[in-house]
Amino acid sequence: MSQTLIISKFGGTSVADFYSMNHSADIVLSNNNTRLVVLSASAGITNLLVSLSEGQEQRHRSYLLNEISRIQYAIIDFLSSKIVRNEINVMLENIAMLSDAAALATSQALTDELVSYGELMSTLLFVEVLREREVNVQWFDIRKVMYTNERFGSAEPDVVRIKENATRLLLPYIEQVLIVTQGFIGTESKGRTTTLGRGGSDYTAALLGEALKATRIDIWTDVAGIYTTDPRIVPEAKRIQEISFEEAAEMATFGAKVLHPATLLPALRSDIPVFVGSSKDPVSGGTRICNKTKNPPLFRAVALRRHQTLVTLHSLNMLHTRGFLAQVFEILARHNISVDLITTSEVSIALTLDTTGSTFTGISLLNEELLSELSSMCHVAVEEHIALVAIIGNKLSKACGVGKEIFEALEPFNLRMICYGASNYNLCFLVSTHDAEAVVRALHKNLFGG
Ligand code: ADP
Ligand code: ASP
Ligand code: MG
Repeated sequence: MSQTLIISKFGGTSVADFYSMNHSADIVLSNNNTRLVVLSASAGITNLLVSLSEGQEQRHRSYLLNEISRIQYAIIDFLSSKIVRNEINVMLENIAMLSDAAALATSQALTDELVSYGELMSTLLFVEVLREREVNVQWFDIRKVMYTNERFGSAEPDVVRIKENATRLLLPYIEQVLIVTQGFIGTESKGRTTTLGRGGSDYTAALLGEALKATRIDIWTDVAGIYTTDPRIVPEAKRIQEISFEEAAEMATFGAKVLHPATLLPALRSDIPVFVGSSKDPVSGGTRICNKTKNPPLFRAVALRRHQTLVTLHSLNMLHTRGFLAQVFEILARHNISVDLITTSEVSIALTLDTTGSTFTGISLLNEELLSELSSMCHVAVEEHIALVAIIGNKLSKACGVGKEIFEALEPFNLRMICYGASNYNLCFLVSTHDAEAVVRALHKNLFGG
């Protein structure tokens, strides 16, 4: 094994078309230490597949299938290989067949099987792009390595088995041949395909980095690094040159889509630095995520997570009684619901549920049974169209004047719930979806200027 091993992950826009694939290939070929490449599906494909997995009527199904073919054929048409054309055609037929099945009955397992074709197709095409450039490259089905539990839609990896498999099936070969494989997908014990949740290819790259003891994980995307907030919302946002694992993990957890929330766990465990940069503009640099940074600032970034559900439970029985919270949590745990934020008063509890992340869109977290169980002990109010805004920083709960700097920017807005103090790294609150972007802009201006 060479001393240095880089794993490079390219997101959807970096493999969206023939032109982008060649840009990404240039990046791979510019560094001999890049031996393993992890890809997302071409941009737009996963959304189309998710839509098919929801079960569509015939006409809409045909439309979605045509869109998928169109995106992939725009790449195939530049390639001379008949073999890859046939392979993609077989996959497109499988997608059509599975979409017919989904129109009859949807399921989480079926959704994961269907969406996995996005990454299977993009990797086949990328391998061919490299072959036509005379690169010695091998396509690899990551499901031979990426073992997970059977929580379809947001499966959890089995880190020990992944390491064993990667050591056996990948490590001996990466020295000799460049390997291209799929992000996002895995397999459970019965051999059925699973997915790691939306945006999960970043996580795959980090898990493989850990398993293979990589020296660096490169995440190539459509922005030149991690910014002080989403540059789509605030174009003046500033790039962060260097950030700690903890801060970046906090940003990802609270909605900075540039990284899947779990990506930094393997990197942190194994102390592998992560680089985030733009595949369109690799020379402009990016963000380095590592263990420790010099002079971590009080305020680091503002993150936004849409599609939150706010549940308020109200009961006079809570007054001077014990165990009410325990009962509520017992019910939620039984229904497999993880609570995100929580605030309490003498007679009410407000909590949020995060509805983002899973590949499967088919089930509402709050099912009838759960609501009726909760309603039997208290009054329940559910609000949708809520967004969570988080200020990420360092020693936030220990510094003076934090509240003033943050809240003076928020004067015109109605804040629904504020969580501060539990974590040194964040202060977060809820606002209506309608206000969310304006809140991020106002906060960013106050905290970072611009
Ligand atoms: P990929 O398909 O390459 O994984 P994503 O769309 O998942 O790309 O992530 C990149 C996007 O993340 C950017 O286009 C940007 O809009 C968004 N984003 C959100 N927060 C941030 C942030 N703080 N810094 C940079 N990008 C961010
Ligand atoms: N293709 C998957 C998605 O769109 C995984 C990824 O891009 O990371 O969510
Ligand atoms: Mg992503």
